[in-house]
Amino acid sequence: MSFAPLLCALAFALALAFRRHRAAQILAAIALAQFALADDGALGLRAVSAATMFAPWLFLAAVLVPEPPLRSRRMLAFAGLLGFVAWLALAAPEHVWRGLEDALPLGALSWRPSRVAGTLCLVASVVPLARWLRRGAPLELALALALALAACAWFDVAGVGFARWLTIAALVAALGVVYSSWRLAFLDALTGLPNRRALDETLARLSGGYALAMVDVDHFKQFNDKHGHDAGDRVLIEVARVLAKTRGAAAFRFGGEEFCLLFRKPDGAAEACEETRAAIEATAVALPKKPAAKSKAGKGTKTKEPQRTVNVTASIGLAARDAKRRSAQEVLKAADQCLYRAKGKGRNQVVAER
Ligand code: GH3
Ligand code: MG
Ligand code: MG
Repeated sequence: MSFAPLLCALAFALALAFRRHRAAQILAAIALAQFALADDGALGLRAVSAATMFAPWLFLAAVLVPEPPLRSRRMLAFAGLLGFVAWLALAAPEHVWRGLEDALPLGALSWRPSRVAGTLCLVASVVPLARWLRRGAPLELALALALALAACAWFDVAGVGFARWLTIAALVAALGVVYSSWRLAFLDALTGLPNRRALDETLARLSGGYALAMVDVDHFKQFNDKHGHDAGDRVLIEVARVLAKTRGAAAFRFGGEEFCLLFRKPDGAAEACEETRAAIEATAVALPKKPAAKSKAGKGTKTKEPQRTVNVTASIGLAARDAKRRSAQEVLKAADQCLYRAKGKGRNQVVAER
């Protein structure tokens, strides 16, 4: 027995569970095509024709219509369309199918239907590809790849048959769903660093000697008030970039303007923290441009505003696991107390627990 339908059903369930409704729509259309085209058309010529004629349009509908909530008219309309195609392929009376074939301008294009289907799949794949290029969302790349693989099925690339190409397409879409959901759960959306949940999971598995540093941007509330929230976000992104380069440490966003550094080997952690503190202080962060000032005539002035930059500082508290502090929570608490002392001593400095 082929495991392709099982894979499709599993991938579809995953997509629904993770609320990736566009991926679910594409997977449902792949599953339908796979079913209709299984075993080189064992279900009959009409199933093959219907899947070839309509599945690519289902893909196009899925990528072009804004991603719908589960209980929405758009989702219902897509399900209705899918059901209609399934009915046409498998159960519609012969005269309905004949009538449809006569009504559609199928002879207008001299291309074979499979070539039309492959081309439509490629066109559909360009939409998520463009979204990925613009937003960098990995699921969009996976969907673009899945649709390109579906195109390979209709173009019969390498002669491996429909089922294999569509199975690979479903697998790629499913991997995209899993990977994007993993990112959502464990990576911070603003900075791209692993988040607090990832830190907790990492700490729960830690053993042996290690050190933790708590990093907190100084006077960040004031900064936001003065320069705006967007500028604040830029600062957090830049600080995260510097932290990610800390020697011998993994960086996490703890929450807000607080970060955590995990040193698997405590030796040299204080020096690395000091280097990172200095690097944060030295980083010039470009502020978002203000909208062009209006001249008296009401038109935007042409004079180019120079790029404004700002520098921020951060305070760091560092503590290592030892006989007194055995659990990660105790080490974290000690690092937090050191951070508190660094703030009290005037900020922009590293305080390490001795
Ligand atoms: P201190 O030097 O004592 O740490 O003072 P602080 O102002 O940095 O600390 P406080 O805890 O008073 O303020 C933290 C600010 O961080 C408040 C909040 O608006 C801001 N903040 C938290 N998360 C974000 C974010 O994701 N983006 C932006 N722009 N600001 C954030
Ligand atoms: Mg804070
Ligand atoms: Mg702060």
